[in-house]
Amino acid sequence: MTRNDELFDRARLSIPGGVNSPVRAYRSVGGTPRFLTSAKGAYVTDSDGTQYVDLVSSWGPAILGHAHPEVVAAVQDAAGRGLSFGASTPGETELAELVRARVTSGGRSPIEKIRLVSTGTEATMTAIRLARGFTGRDVLIKFAGHYHGHSDSLLAEAGSGLATLGLPASAGVPAATAALTLVLPYNDLDAVREAFALHPGRIAGIITEAAAANMGVVAPDAGFNAALSAIAHENGALLIVDEVLTGFRVHPAGYWALESEAQAAEGSDAYSPDLVTYGKVIGGGMPLAALGGRADVMDFLAPLGPVYQAGTLSGNPVAVAAGIATLTLADASVYARLDATADLLSSSVSEALADVGVTHSVQRAGNLFSFVFGDYTPSAGGAPRTYADVQRQDAFRYPAFFHSMLDSGVSLPPSVFEAWFVSAAHDDKAIGRILDALPAAARAAAS
Ligand code: PLP
Repeated sequence: MTRNDELFDRARLSIPGGVNSPVRAYRSVGGTPRFLTSAKGAYVTDSDGTQYVDLVSSWGPAILGHAHPEVVAAVQDAAGRGLSFGASTPGETELAELVRARVTSGGRSPIEKIRLVSTGTEATMTAIRLARGFTGRDVLIKFAGHYHGHSDSLLAEAGSGLATLGLPASAGVPAATAALTLVLPYNDLDAVREAFALHPGRIAGIITEAAAANMGVVAPDAGFNAALSAIAHENGALLIVDEVLTGFRVHPAGYWALESEAQAAEGSDAYSPDLVTYGKVIGGGMPLAALGGRADVMDFLAPLGPVYQAGTLSGNPVAVAAGIATLTLADASVYARLDATADLLSSSVSEALADVGVTHSVQRAGNLFSFVFGDYTPSAGGAPRTYADVQRQDAFRYPAFFHSMLDSGVSLPPSVFEAWFVSAAHDDKAIGRILDALPAAARAAAS
């Protein structure tokens, strides 16, 4: 019995399933979750003392690698001045200004005002309440396979057909709440138009991941997000773009900026989200998230407006210090490094799988990537664009692939439906270790 096994057994006695967030339990890959004791740069170390090259990166925040010395110093300095005040601090405004200055395209920023919260769930939950409060409407559109955290409105599944409103996707979510969420197929603009036609004057907003990355990575079709913005606005509704995962990871200014650059190259203006949510990278590994957007909408929040939102730990000074340090260090060279590593790893995994005859699709959204197992050649319907497309994959291949990589000292996300996260600390040595592990893992996936 390993130390990890012992710790898992012990944890299960006091913590439901032994974990504080379900995917950590390794349910979809099997085996004992690794109980980590430290993380530095591109590596994590478990309680048996085994070191792994980490491609989870805390599910996104660690773009600079773990425990970057300057981020740790900023956190230590802030902690020395007090852990939490429950009062305003200069750092909160500094971080708000930093975000507004970064998220611009063609001289304009969609982030006119921003509020700091502690988790991505809070950010999306508040954005939805704000959209409902601002429009005076109740119904929300989300897309199947998109994850926006675990607030009640967002734990809804599609009913059969567009006319049907959502059913709860989790016990404990009131049917009446889920019924206010319409779940539509991703990348399907006709479905969005039809929903507005079927529910005139009732839809408060559309929430969409800037690029879907919680069903594996599925990028939006070119122009999809821009069209959502146009359709929402034609119908008096708001567009909420969830950049909790993509924001400050795929580009210094998020996925919106990647798309804006592509639009500018074609001579069109950037599309306008009304609200944008951030999390993960913005807190540099500390509990911090945010929602921002149009000033007239944001000013609907208390204390100026009628939509309530608050938090004892909102804008926590230690988390804010980590966020400022991380965003300040994440310069163009960091993003160039992330992009190059993503290119190399995604093509190397693909080659290793192809060498042993495992058909697959390489899924990319900027430097986020994942792999969908199965035949997605043009004659079989092409690369996945919807949740239904990724659900029909040969998911049974992933556990063997995952465990072979783990045995070779590489920690991948413990689910085929998650993105892989690289960091600027993944140097040639760390990447070499990943590349060396691939042939055996591909063979395991093939068998
Ligand atoms: N939105 C997206 C796109 C996410 O990926 C996540 C978490 O993975 C969330 C919201 C929820 O964030 P948190 O886990 O911080 O509550």
